[in-house]
Amino acid sequence: MTQILSLSRPQETAPVPLIDLVAQYQTIRDEIQEAVQRVFERQAFVLGEEVDTFEKEIAEYCDSRHAIGCASGTDALVLSLMALGVGPGDEVITSPYSFFATASCIVRLGARPVFADIDPVSYNLNPQAVEAALTRRTRAIIPVHLYGQCADMDPIWRTAVKHQLPVIEDACQAIGSVYRGRKAGVLGTMGCFSFFPTKNLGGAGDGGLITTDDRDLASRLKRLRVHGDFGGYNHIEVGLNSRLDALQAAVLSVKLKHLDTWSAARRANADRYHQLMQEQGIDGVVELPSQGPEQHHIYNQFVIRVPGGKRDEVLNGLKKQGIGCAIYYPKPLHLQECFSSLRYQAGELPESERAANETIALPIFAELGADRQERVVSTLRNVLADVGLIQPQKSIRRAA
Ligand SMILES: *Cc1c(COP(=O)(O)O)cnc(C)c1O
Repeated sequence: MTQILSLSRPQETAPVPLIDLVAQYQTIRDEIQEAVQRVFERQAFVLGEEVDTFEKEIAEYCDSRHAIGCASGTDALVLSLMALGVGPGDEVITSPYSFFATASCIVRLGARPVFADIDPVSYNLNPQAVEAALTRRTRAIIPVHLYGQCADMDPIWRTAVKHQLPVIEDACQAIGSVYRGRKAGVLGTMGCFSFFPTKNLGGAGDGGLITTDDRDLASRLKRLRVHGDFGGYNHIEVGLNSRLDALQAAVLSVKLKHLDTWSAARRANADRYHQLMQEQGIDGVVELPSQGPEQHHIYNQFVIRVPGGKRDEVLNGLKKQGIGCAIYYPKPLHLQECFSSLRYQAGELPESERAANETIALPIFAELGADRQERVVSTLRNVLADVGLIQPQKSIRRAA
């Protein structure tokens, strides 16, 4: 015990990274090495047995009938829209407060993204705003389960059913997240996942997957990921080259076994942040993420809101003190230059714009540990005092 304490001492001033994939790898190195070795011995690198197995495992994990691997979360979104036949003249309603791919997939297919504003507490689509954004041209709705918590799917699904619209979940940040007893990926028509290394289930490179209960959509997706090949070089439509690599599938199968443990650790870290910030009296100054009553948040990100136009100052203060942090996302999608032809104006989607101006993501990865969390919170408190959001505090709580 004494030894552990003395070993950990130098870490007290070491920077706290936003994410530490090396720490995770160290806990599973042998399993990963063995899986990678197996793929190399077989020399079958694209689709094949490893991918079949992984698809079955994910289908079981999410409780979906089908799972179709592909090259990235972005491609999962593009393929889903392709499978629905979305194209020029169509509109797809989605959130402007998300990663770029949520909207670019729509534009890629020649359709028009229609942005509905978010709920300021969950940062997810406001179901009423979705309803208000419907037109005769609406062909699909893409709710995003941002930061690891599901969008409020029941009212969105009711709207979709009423207007006979398919729903594509952008579940790229939400694998294992639960809404009213059901996992992300089975709350709509199709669910899109990303295995980008920093997601909760991250591969050794890019990877993605689509879940669905619909057999026809599943077989069309399987065709679309291989150039629309119906078999025997018979192309009945034009698809993509977007497959999941065997290497990724093998690595992801290993990591999937640990996913719930890692998510539980992230959730425990989130609880500890709440407790520490309460102890430091800053939980009323910055707004902490809140988990809805029917939700099981898996905290791909732990995002706080800093009021009073002080976000950037706080961000820089934290960075200067060696605390890893980032902004997801600094510019809402409706104001991106490449979408200027959509003619959205600043001020049009106020909650998304306010979130883009006020939020900061703090480290939340599974291996973070209580000591480093205390450092994050005490540093945050000092920075909040520096920028004038709280009174400077004389005594420091940390145990001597
Ligand atoms: C990561 C992410 C994507 C894209 O996934 P890639 O695998 O990087 O292409 C799409 N949407 C959201 C919300 C994401 O977080």
